[in-house]
Amino acid sequence: MSASSEKSLSALLDERRTFPPSEDFRRRAGANDPGIYDRALQDPEAFWSSEAKKLDWFTPWQKVLEWNVPWAKWFVGGKLNITYNCVDRHARSARRNKAAIIWEGEPGDSRVLTYGMLEREVNRLANALRSLGVAKGDRVAIYMGMVPELVIAMLGCAKIGAPHSIVFGGFSAEALRERINDAKAKVVVTCDGAWRRGSVVPLKASVDEALRGTPTIQNVIVVRRIGDAAKAAMQAGRDAWWHDVTGAASDKCAAEPMDAEDMLFVLYTSGTTGKPKGIVHTSGGYLVGVSTTHRYVFDIKEEDVYWCTADIGWVTGHSYIVYGPLANGATSVMYEGTPDYPDRDRFWSVIDKYGVNIFYTAPTAIRTFMRWGTELPARHSLSSLRLLGTVGEPINPEAWIWYNDYIGHRRCPIVDTWWQTETGMILISPLPGLTATKPGSATRPLPGIVAEVVDAKGDAVGPGAGGYLVLKRPWPAMMRTIYGDPDRYVQQYWSRYPGIYFTGDGCKVDKDGYFWLLGRVDDVMNVAGHRISTYEVESALVDHSSVAEAAVIGRTHEVKGQGISAFVTLKEGVAADDGLKNELKQHVVGKIGAIARPDDIFFVSELPKTRSAKIMRRLLRDIAEGRILGDTTTLADPAVVARLKTQYQEEG
Ligand code: ATP
Ligand code: MG
Repeated sequence: MSASSEKSLSALLDERRTFPPSEDFRRRAGANDPGIYDRALQDPEAFWSSEAKKLDWFTPWQKVLEWNVPWAKWFVGGKLNITYNCVDRHARSARRNKAAIIWEGEPGDSRVLTYGMLEREVNRLANALRSLGVAKGDRVAIYMGMVPELVIAMLGCAKIGAPHSIVFGGFSAEALRERINDAKAKVVVTCDGAWRRGSVVPLKASVDEALRGTPTIQNVIVVRRIGDAAKAAMQAGRDAWWHDVTGAASDKCAAEPMDAEDMLFVLYTSGTTGKPKGIVHTSGGYLVGVSTTHRYVFDIKEEDVYWCTADIGWVTGHSYIVYGPLANGATSVMYEGTPDYPDRDRFWSVIDKYGVNIFYTAPTAIRTFMRWGTELPARHSLSSLRLLGTVGEPINPEAWIWYNDYIGHRRCPIVDTWWQTETGMILISPLPGLTATKPGSATRPLPGIVAEVVDAKGDAVGPGAGGYLVLKRPWPAMMRTIYGDPDRYVQQYWSRYPGIYFTGDGCKVDKDGYFWLLGRVDDVMNVAGHRISTYEVESALVDHSSVAEAAVIGRTHEVKGQGISAFVTLKEGVAADDGLKNELKQHVVGKIGAIARPDDIFFVSELPKTRSAKIMRRLLRDIAEGRILGDTTTLADPAVVARLKTQYQEEG
């Protein structure tokens, strides 16, 4: 690497602001002995096995790990049931009347399910599924809004050993059909409709359309969420109302003993980098991984109210709204609507309404809140909060500082958690009672995780240099394969470096051993021979007081190899003009250096995002280079890209 690229990365790694946990937080934290890292490193199998013992097993395992690269088996020979662990055992303990799920509906209705109530509801649904002929191993597709029945459906499937495939309720009929067919599902569980900013999304109608081309589906179970306004048509012999089938079913149901390696679910990735992959997770290792990380990373206490704002259609919702928190007997808040309906302070009022202690959201949401201004959170006390988290994309340091100041009131540690659908569980994150955080860094691999940043040859790079993030040891919640495509599993993740998991993310490590995620490998630009990450330039732009969000791409440039284009959204009330463009370019030069100066800046009203709200830079690259757009099936709003394309052609 040349001297000037060293300068570019030093801008980020020079982040001097560090935030150690307060003495009080440290003292009370579940993980406050730094020895945990060394113990896990020296004997990872002993570490994971002691965590696994916190679950209830019907039959103990004989071997912690069998590792035939790249095929892993964890807790070999062990038998357990996920739902038994997440619900039944709590319902039989002092937690029987503790809230498992606190649900807030979009129109302001709410519902609390205690562990005891959840057990009965889950059993009814499990029995209803069985009566429709669903047996262990049969796949069930779930396509619903964020209603409590979604959680009940997942746990009902897991109770009888039927793997679920949840398709985010914002997806089209076509996307649903593809996923149903890929998983060869037998039954679909859905809702008549879902609320979205006060209007009805007709989910059942999408299911009907999808089912015109799904030979494996035999039955549909429909939750009545909306009622007549949803105009759901029921097809006799195929469709049944949830309240009818569960009303007729017993509320007792024995848990199916599952092998630790039996499949729990398949879930498709976000599609940020290309066509989504059907990721397979199994029972034992997954539950050990998500319960352990939920306990340590979120420092969960018996009395905590915990809220993860993700949609259960993504892995974050699977692992950290449902399976992790419930395995730990926690109280998990679930919210049906969007942050801006009916008002832009909905999240903050929900926090005050339920006394939320731990709040976990995404950088994209935080950047949106910054754009809306500080008056909205200031209307609420937020005094119950004691810990904040983020996931999904690298968080720009300015967004981190804003989160810390205006939501955490400088009192709450922030855990920036790096992981993937494929990893199943958080792998790189602070432990909030132990780690001094730095804004923009996910800090260190968790105990038991061996991550490294390597160069193209696979050699570890030194402090300050950039490279590829890899994982050098298996971990319990790792994916087992891509559904129906084991070759792609080997090809995609295990072929670049034999025996080592390739994450596809770029990363740097600083002199303190902290990891700085730089986005996708494809998002690292090569400008006149210097490697600059899009994230660094974006963070420099977001650092400017007028900027809300930025997406930066490298596009072919005759002289420099790659030129830098920036797509920028401004904070509300800021006027877009050429003067500001020049000011922003200078701001980047000041923050990083002349090498990172954007060649062009486009002011846009919205950036293209996936339905899980990640910026899709690859489509911007396609536009900038005049290519046909790649896979757009997971795009949240196709109109945004169409508008950008026109604007680019006019201004570019
Ligand atoms: P696809 O694999 O289909 O392209 P995707 O990678 O966006 O989609 P997910 O599994 O939802 O699908 O996202 C995982 C990715 O999200 C990670 O590889 C990483 O790029 C990004 N990510 C998640 N959390 C963080 C974080 N805390 N910091 C930086 N990046 C993160
Ligand atoms: Mg990915």
